[in-house]
Amino acid sequence: MAKQSPWQAALTQLESAAAIAQVRPEIIEQLRRPERVIQAEFPVRMDDGSLQFFQGYRVQHSNARGPYKGGIRFHPNVDMDEVRALAFWMSIKCAVAGIPFGGGKGGVTVDPKRLSTGELERLSRAYVRAMGMNFGPRHDVPAPDVNTNGQIMAWMVEEWKKVVGRKQRAANQNEWRATFTGKPIGKGGAAGREQATGFGGMVVLREALRTLGKQWGIRKSPTVIVQGFGNVGYWAARTATDFGFRVIGISDSSGGVVVDDGDTGRGFDPALVLAGKEEVGQLVHFVSGGPFGGVSHVRTVTNAQLLETPCDVLVPAALEGQITQKNAARVRAKLVLELANGPTTPEAEAVLRERGISVIPDVLANAGGVTTSYYEWLQNIRNVRWTEAATLRRLDALLTEQARKVLTRAARSRVTPRQAAFAIAIERIADAMGS
Ligand code: NAD
Repeated sequence: MAKQSPWQAALTQLESAAAIAQVRPEIIEQLRRPERVIQAEFPVRMDDGSLQFFQGYRVQHSNARGPYKGGIRFHPNVDMDEVRALAFWMSIKCAVAGIPFGGGKGGVTVDPKRLSTGELERLSRAYVRAMGMNFGPRHDVPAPDVNTNGQIMAWMVEEWKKVVGRKQRAANQNEWRATFTGKPIGKGGAAGREQATGFGGMVVLREALRTLGKQWGIRKSPTVIVQGFGNVGYWAARTATDFGFRVIGISDSSGGVVVDDGDTGRGFDPALVLAGKEEVGQLVHFVSGGPFGGVSHVRTVTNAQLLETPCDVLVPAALEGQITQKNAARVRAKLVLELANGPTTPEAEAVLRERGISVIPDVLANAGGVTTSYYEWLQNIRNVRWTEAATLRRLDALLTEQARKVLTRAARSRVTPRQAAFAIAIERIADAMGS
């Protein structure tokens, strides 16, 4: 089978959920089409004085449930097909999380590693000058995505305020800030955003195990393997140990470490693993035998081997397309929790399903990030500040409830958690459209 483009994959998922969602066919027809696609070729002054033109995109998929919401990605592979698919997935994700946002996504085709800081700032500001009229706190609220961060959001807020905010007479300073989320804390960002995606993923897992753990044959303190040890992977691993799960494998782009078979301890201590990684700049920097990360006997493995190591729960938290038709038959987990976006290809998911391995989909499992973006927006609009503990408490309660709904629906309708999540999302969007 030829590999599907992201947009084709999105449509396949939509069709698969449409078969069980209780909505009129016109709703599905509407969701097959983004409400607006915006493309601009805009100029940026480079350090050598030359003017270069870049392709920028924004796709506004659906605002039935609230303002369009979704990140801005800077990457050489960004194109309209990808941005369209990512915008669709944001509509689904926000609806699954039950937050009052629709779906959007933006991007620029650029390799930011080739830009100086000055060029990166001018590119970020130029993107907002080209696209800014389409953004606004009550209309379309971007956020960071691949290769964009809080600093870039801070430049974008400033630029938006300059070129659009004043004209629109946004009610006050806070409303301006609410146009972009993922800002640094000092510029209106939310406390707890850093932990939110990894923490939220473990909240979803805890609830999934409560609801269906027995059916999956997973015992009370499950063994967990996390691929990727960046923001999401680290906080997922840390929260997993806080919840009493045993983290027995971790990897980053340098490779992985797993607890040796004979070791019956509590598993890795992620804080110690991070300290070990920071000392040398990469995770795998020693020969097998350990000790490492609070574990006395450790083996080093390749990333391919890590995905095939026996465990209860495999957590891909690095990149898309990691579990494919090639390795799905060798995955030896009972459950896959998708914290990266799109880590399991549709073909691989079919193989896993056949083998009785469930997949908790990204649109539910990593929704802690966008939910905390919603909390940031809410705090900006209301001009209040929540503590980190208050943010995580709310996130815990919300994701526990939404996870239970998705997994109960999956069990009741005998469909995959992904089909259940998409069906619930589509029904919620249809509700908001008044159908
Ligand atoms: P990050 O850049 O902080 O971390 C990525 C990690 O993956 C790094 O540790 C890197 O070494 C590792 N990695 C890279 N290639 C690898 C490979 N081949 N094998 C194993 N590890 C590899 O990124 P992040 O913010 O943690 O995001 C991770 C994933 O989660 C991405 O798919 C992202 O789209 C998704 N996501 C992130 C958020 C968020 O809030 N940060 C929200 C939703 C989804």
